[in-house]
Amino acid sequence: MKRLKYWRFLMLLFLAIGLFQSCEKDMDDIVAPTSITDTTGTDTKDEEPDPGPNPDVGSGEQGGDSDNDPPAEGDPGSITLYSVEGGNLIKQKDFKVSGKELELQKDTNKHQEIWELTKKIIPPNYLSKMSEFMIFAGEGDGTAGYVFNTATDLSKWQMGIAIDFAYEGGFNAGGELAYTIIHEFGHILTLDNTQVDASVSEDKCENYFVGEGCARTSSYINKTYKKGWADIWDAFLKVRDAESESASEEFYNKYRDRFVTGYASTNPGEDIAEVFATFVTRNGGVNGSTIAEQKIQIMYDHPELIELRNFIRGNTATAKGRSYLPVAGSWKKAATFGNPKKSHCSRPAK
Ligand SMILES: [Zn+2]
Repeated sequence: MKRLKYWRFLMLLFLAIGLFQSCEKDMDDIVAPTSITDTTGTDTKDEEPDPGPNPDVGSGEQGGDSDNDPPAEGDPGSITLYSVEGGNLIKQKDFKVSGKELELQKDTNKHQEIWELTKKIIPPNYLSKMSEFMIFAGEGDGTAGYVFNTATDLSKWQMGIAIDFAYEGGFNAGGELAYTIIHEFGHILTLDNTQVDASVSEDKCENYFVGEGCARTSSYINKTYKKGWADIWDAFLKVRDAESESASEEFYNKYRDRFVTGYASTNPGEDIAEVFATFVTRNGGVNGSTIAEQKIQIMYDHPELIELRNFIRGNTATAKGRSYLPVAGSWKKAATFGNPKKSHCSRPAK
């Protein structure tokens, strides 16, 4: 009954505003009324490395890959945690699961298939920044993917991909999985230690403060922030503190020409992940002179990002006769807004 109520609410919301979101998967899985108000409990955690879905991660308590190890306790939906070594997945933990999730845990060919696609999107020099890879079930909370730093200096990250969504309608149907990986990679790309200085506190930060640290002056996110956020920052802070869907909606509608998707208006962190994903997946280049397009131009101003775009497109343009990438802006599950207080996709707090 509760679900039905949400479903009706969300259908109305969708019809009314047609907004999009990428981290979360299905319209009826997004608990819109709490997606923002939920943040109260996680807000203080922004100052610290996100403990992520598994509190043991990053604590040094990583077990070996013994089949005799008992299944680990984890957050709901956690299936298998891998470490990434030399581009390969090394199993660290199987979590205690049952039923459908147990089937997904045993089906390691699927884990590998997701990983192979990930490697087509993230080249080796960036892949080395990802120390951990989590296979989880996203159905419970509607999360399709997430990242968080496993090192306080932001040099190492964990990425999580929802295996159930990855195979919804067939592997990578509609390019949705590829899009999710590109978006999540966009977070690591723009929040790692080369981009953000975790040792600088907010009161000492003269650039955009992302939550994990202070954006470096020439960082991608500092440039997109200056281009499209700095002059409306007070208006955004009001939205962030209002913690209401309608305030987010109003903000997006008012500044629509600044954002490539509705989800991008969540905050500068989600914005740049969406800008990067649009930059990569769009067939053409910059299209017009809006601030949203000027942010895409910032991507084109960096040869290393053009190289990344070429790498991803070259590896995913055709496989088995079909494109892996969705048409930019058309990813069907990009609904509503994310958490304005989180600089990147995350799994909702329990
Ligand atoms: Zn995100």
